[in-house]
Amino acid sequence: MTRVTVYSTQNCPYCRMAKAFLDKYGVPYESIDVGADPVQAQKMIEISGQRGVPVITVDDEVIVGFDAERLTELFGKEEAPDRYDVLIVGAGPAGLTAGVYCARKMLSTLIISENIGGQALESWAIENYMGYRMITGEDLMKKFEEQVKTLDIRLELDRVTSVTREQQDFAIKTAAGKTHRARALILTQGNHHRNLGVPGEEKFLGRGLSVCATCDGPLYKGKKVAVVGGGNAGVQTAIEMSRIALSVSLIARGAVRADSVYSEKLGGIQNITVHTDTQVTAFHGDTFLSGITICDANGAEQQIAIDGLFVDTGWVPNTEMVEGLLDLNERKEIIVDINGRTSIPGIFAAGDVTNAKSKQIIIAAGEGAKAALEAFGYLAGQ
Ligand SMILES: Cc1cc2nc3c(=O)[nH]c(=O)nc-3n(C[C@H](O)[C@H](O)[C@H](O)COP(=O)(O)OP(=O)(O)OC[C@H]3O[C@@H](n4cnc5c(N)ncnc54)[C@H](O)[C@@H]3O)c2cc1C
Repeated sequence: MTRVTVYSTQNCPYCRMAKAFLDKYGVPYESIDVGADPVQAQKMIEISGQRGVPVITVDDEVIVGFDAERLTELFGKEEAPDRYDVLIVGAGPAGLTAGVYCARKMLSTLIISENIGGQALESWAIENYMGYRMITGEDLMKKFEEQVKTLDIRLELDRVTSVTREQQDFAIKTAAGKTHRARALILTQGNHHRNLGVPGEEKFLGRGLSVCATCDGPLYKGKKVAVVGGGNAGVQTAIEMSRIALSVSLIARGAVRADSVYSEKLGGIQNITVHTDTQVTAFHGDTFLSGITICDANGAEQQIAIDGLFVDTGWVPNTEMVEGLLDLNERKEIIVDINGRTSIPGIFAAGDVTNAKSKQIIIAAGEGAKAALEAFGYLAGQ
């Protein structure tokens, strides 16, 4: 029998999704909390050669991260391609809300996404989603997911690689090699982190460099870390890491531009040092990151010894799959009208992947609802 072990931390959404995937396919596994067990944490680092969770071992194979593609190959069951009324790409706030609205309109709906919850999973504390004074991104998205699961909606964990038009229908292909067809599409695939553009970035990703502080933060207990990014996300990460790490260097390319609710807290935290008008210019370390060089606006360089670097430097829309198919703006966001219609009838879009100016959970959810209602109107009129 295949032996599966999941090395995880308590608040890591990707760990939860890996376990949800294994549960869905009835795969038994042992779960090890490396945030609570330093010996197992060290074992995980040794077998995976890196310091990020989740790590999944399947007999002798070591899978780093929640690799839905590989897990689907190992445990997913093949199904014949089908034709749906609506196919939704992405299961963040926009996609999950669109799914609920489609199901309530009795549309046969498939949501395909790399994860369930999207970027919201990375938020330590959400204080601006109505109905909650404060809730973690993890908890809020769990509630979205629970609501979706009460309805007749199919949800598959996979990565969409292409979108094409086939006469009246649309076809999407996925990384797991599947093709799905639908009469309408709702695109809600959000954004991904912008790279720093510093040599060695790929080498150190998971080996001291992290783009998910809520996932990997517990592994840096009592260590020295740095956070790159002077916006809301970067400052929020620096504040949260100051409670876990020994010291935090916050590095901002310009001034700190976070909302006052976050930036006012910064000054009062003893173990955070803020470097404004500063950029990271080099990484140091052999297997693991052990330091960075930073450079200020006057060209003065300084080397800082750190164990971990968290990057929160902005976002790039996930629109490669529709380049050449849909009209995009200069930032490569999908151009939509006020009702979520794109340049092709039958394709709708919502949330952070669109040209909507404000990128927020409540806005993405609202726009997901609007796109779904518009898709329903489109299908009813066909
Ligand atoms: C650290 C952090 C803190 C934040 N804090 C707040 C806050 O306090 N309040 C607030 O309102 N907003 C906050 N935000 C912003 C908020 O999370 C986003 O605006 C919101 O999640 C956007 O929702 P979305 O559904 O449009 O996209 P996303 O949340 O980005 O979801 C996109 C989904 O598409 C999937 N996907 C991407 N590419 C593919 C593909 N090729 N195939 C299949 N699936 C794909 C992804 O896996 C994901 O599930 C925060 C963001 C971050 C990163």
